[in-house]
Parts: sequence; C-alpha cells; structure tokens
Amino acid sequence: MSEQVWKIRRPQRAIPREGPPNLRGMTRAELGEWLAKTIDAPAYRADQVFAWIHQRRAQDFAAMTNLSKAERATLSEHASLAQLEVDTVQRARDGTRKLRLRTADGEFIESVLIPNDERGLTQCISSQVGCALDCRFCATASLGFRRNLDTWEIVDQVARARAMLAAETDAQNSAQASAQASGEDSEDTGAEVWTPRITNVVYMGMGEPLHNFNQVRRSLEVLTDKGGEAIAGRRITVSTSGLVPAIQRFAREGLGHEVGLAISLNATTDAVRDQVMPINQRWPIAELLAAVREVPTNRRRRVTFEYVLLGEVNDSQADARRLIALVREFRCHVNVIPFNPHPHAPFRRPAQARVASFMAALRRAGVQCWLRTPRGDDIQAACGQLALDQ
Ligand code: SAH
Repeated sequence: MSEQVWKIRRPQRAIPREGPPNLRGMTRAELGEWLAKTIDAPAYRADQVFAWIHQRRAQDFAAMTNLSKAERATLSEHASLAQLEVDTVQRARDGTRKLRLRTADGEFIESVLIPNDERGLTQCISSQVGCALDCRFCATASLGFRRNLDTWEIVDQVARARAMLAAETDAQNSAQASAQASGEDSEDTGAEVWTPRITNVVYMGMGEPLHNFNQVRRSLEVLTDKGGEAIAGRRITVSTSGLVPAIQRFAREGLGHEVGLAISLNATTDAVRDQVMPINQRWPIAELLAAVREVPTNRRRRVTFEYVLLGEVNDSQADARRLIALVREFRCHVNVIPFNPHPHAPFRRPAQARVASFMAALRRAGVQCWLRTPRGDDIQAACGQLALDQ
C-alpha cells in the first residue's frame, strides 16, 4: 500500500531581504557587531541605538540625538527602521483588540491584545504568514503557508501595539483636558488615563513558531532584553503543534529556561490526532511526549498542554481519562479551549455539559487546568480564528 505520508509544506516565498537591514530585528549583540563594522562605533553605541529603537520608540535615525550627525547620516543610508503598517484595529465587546498588520511585501498578519487578570494585556503574536501544518480545526491553515516572518516583523507587532495604546491614551487625556477646560464633565475631573501595559506575550497567533525557529529565537532575545522591551521570559509562552525536532532543539539550546513552552495536544489517541493534526502522522503522541520530557525547565516553570475540545470528537469521559494518564507525569497545566467555530472547519463547539464534566474529571485527578473561554469572538479574534478575508 502506498499511503502518502504527511509532509511539512514549504513556504511559497522567502523572507524579503532586499535593501538595507532592518535594525529592529537585530539582537543587541548583532547590532553591536553591525555598528562596529558599518560606522566603526564603540561598543556602547549598540546599547544606545537599541534603547532608541525598543524603549524610546525612535521613528528614524535623526531622532537619535546622542549619536553624531555623521553617524546618523551613515545609518540612514545603510540601515532601515521600517515598521509594519497598522491596517485595521477592531475592538471586541470584551475589550479584546485585533490588529491587522501589513508587511512591506503586501502580506497581512494579525495580532490580538487580550485584557488579563493583572489589569494589563496579553499580546498574542504571529510567527508566520499562514501556516504549514494544516490542523483541521484552525482557521489559519486555510491560508496555506505564504512565508516566515522576519525577526523584526515578529518584534514589531509588540512595538505597533504599544504605539497604538500610547496614542489612545494621549487622545483620551487630551479629550479630558479640553473637556475640563471648557467646564464640561465636572464629575470626571479625574486622574490622567494610564496606558495599559502589555504584561505577557504568547506566540499563539498565526503560524507555527517552532517552524520559524531562527527568527523566533532571535525575537525572544530582542523582546526579553533588559535594554529594550524587557518583557520577562517567564511572561512569554511559545506554543507548538508538536514539531518534535524543533522541540529537541528548543531543549538543547536551553530555551526552556528562558520562556514557557505550550504543546497543542488536542487529542488523546493517535487515531484521532492523526485526523485533526496531520503532523501527528509524522510525530505521534509518544514521540511528542518523549521530546517534551527532555525539555529542561526551571523549577518554577510548568509546561502547558493545550487541548482544544471538539464537540463529540475528543470531549468524552474516556478522552478525559486518557488525557490525565498522558499528562500526569509532567509538572504541567492544561488549558482546555472549547473549539471556536469558523467557516473553515467542520467541527462543533462542545456542549456545555460535556465541557463541565471534562473539566471536573481533570480536577478530580488533581491536574491543574484552566478553561479558556473565547475572547474577542465577535471580531473573529478568538483562539484559532485568525485568518484573513481576502
Ligand atoms: N501553531 C502553534 C500556535 C498557534 S495555534 C500551535 O499549534 O500551538 C494556538 C492554539 O490555538 C493552539 O493550541 C491551537 O490548538 C488552538 N486553536 C487553533 N484553532 C482553534 C479553534 N478554532 N478553536 C480553539 N482553539 C484553536
């Protein structure tokens, strides 16, 4: 029998890299080397330029006033600070916001800001345009795999979100100030509005982060750098569908000590997982879990298993029992995500009673678990709904 074995798709195109390099995608060390080579700059220049880009939000080199005029001129000639273009922003009833961003070569990606319990926002970012993995329940799969995102395109999703939030705050404050000046709104003579903070970043938007390993690893280094955005590694989670060789590399390179890892398990038997996540035909559950076992982590950190509940497909009590048996050995928590329906997938949202008994079974067994209710589903921003109407 010549059954076709599932193969990972190739991108339709390469990352566009014509023109001068974009400094937004360089780690501080890379920036140092590049600056030494290009403008013969002393080492401390890298810290300055890095801070201009990632903390002070410089739009161009002219703004970098602690550099000499000559250095600024050379940089404008040999380097770029291009940004993603914010195409649209949608706001859901629950405060979730979805940004649609346009790349220089005309591709679109999405990123979502979700209010969290710490009065901040969790940003869900994309790592690829489309995805190669074809998970049957996921909207992004319907786009095919256009290309990998470059490091700066991953990092810049956070910068664009921060810039948008800052602009919103400015607008609110100046509206408040002018209302006060004209004597309106006397009850609301209140405090300045603060810009909400992005406290957490999850690589759970479009794409498979571990399939774009080099760019994702670099983006982690840039985002966590204390001289830049300084997002703590323990507040970052990289989510994978189970690309075993890349999980092994993640382990080897010590990334488990740096950031959180989430595994999209989504089924408890190979028969079902083969169907809903074709990657399982290549790396079945036992191999996936063997790889996860090898990821060294800090004592405080747990691995996350994500489990999308597909109505009548993987939401039975037998599934709950098998899931418990699979994850029991790990210091982990399980995120149970009821399927968010969208036009590209033939599945149903699970019945509420089945969700409740699934959760109850996990809890009885002492598995730490959370039910992830859909956020921003009225703007198609909920888990797995990121695909673009084109
Ligand atoms: N490729 C990575 C990250 C993107 S998907 C991964 O597979 O982990 C992020 C999470 O959303 C995954 O756990 C995935 O199983 C889940 N997901 C995808 N489509 C969904 C949908 N329609 N409803 C609920 N969760 C979904």
